[in-house]
This record gives sequence, structure tokens and C-alpha cells, in this order.
Amino acid sequence: MGERPPVPLSPELERWILWAKFSAVIRARGGNPEEFREDFERALEAMKDLPFEEKQRRLEEMAISATPPPVIVARPPAVAMPPVEAVAAPAGPGVMTRVCKRCGRTFTGPDEASIYYLERIFPFPSEYWEVCAVCKKRYFGYPPAPIMISQAMRYRRVHPDYWAFLSQLLRMLEERGGE
Ligand SMILES: [Zn+2]
Repeated sequence: MGERPPVPLSPELERWILWAKFSAVIRARGGNPEEFREDFERALEAMKDLPFEEKQRRLEEMAISATPPPVIVARPPAVAMPPVEAVAAPAGPGVMTRVCKRCGRTFTGPDEASIYYLERIFPFPSEYWEVCAVCKKRYFGYPPAPIMISQAMRYRRVHPDYWAFLSQLLRMLEERGGE
């Protein structure tokens, strides 16, 4: 059995695997895969000449952008990290003009020191904080930073130790149209 050479996937098996992966992404983000069945079929049809890996990559991106961001999981800070307030209090959070790492557009975002803490408060890749609103949505499926921060506090997804830091940062971002 295991000694047969690998054979290309049949279209049926390929569709089955791709659907399994596509629907798993949607389910993980709280969505109902069946609502996206038609989109899936349409996309698959349009991609029929592409290699399997490329289909899989595009379908995953599609699943991410079609569904709402997952619930933010409150994550305790790293063991060695002092409380944010203790460290951030002297300087506080800050914002700066950033160049989007993906598209090169300039936008207002958290400064480097703030990102250091945000990376530890939120379970996102650090790049989330370094790209513009359009790229946040396109590549991560998440809304802009001010919405993310205010929702995290409103729904108590982050530890109260961080609220002072986050509300200050939120105010700065809102005042300057930050993303
Ligand atoms: Zn961008």
C-alpha cells in the first residue's frame, strides 16, 4: 500500500480536502461554512487551472476575509514581563506616522514602544500593528486598531491592568485618525 508512487489528487478528493480546510477556517472564526458554500464553489471553478497549494492559499484568505475576527482571547502576559503600567507609566503610550509594511502607505499607528506592549497584550502577529487599515483587513481579517482596542476593553478581553494604557493609546489614535 505505502509503496505506490504518489498520484495526483482526483478533482473530487481535491475539492473535499479544500472544503475541509476552508470550512475549518470559517468555523474557527465563528462562522457557518454552509453560508459560504456557493462562494467556495465559484472560487474553485475560477481557479481550476491553478496548482493545489495556490488554491488552498487563496481559499484560506477568502475564508478569513469573509468572516468576522475571532473572539480575542485574553492572554496573560509573559512570565518575565513586568505589568504594563509599571513600565509604560513614565512615558505612556504614543503614536507616530508609520509606513505600512505591506503596501507602503503612510498612516498613524502606535509607536514602537507601544507596539512592544500591544504584542504582549493581544494575541496578534506584531505585523498587525505595523500595517494600514486596508492591509489589516486584507491580510489578517481584523478591523483597524482603534476598533480592536475599544472592543477588547468593552468586552473585557484584556486584563484591567492594561486598560489605562490602552484607553490612553485609543484616545491618541482617535484624535489623529489612527489605524
Ligand atoms: Zn497597507
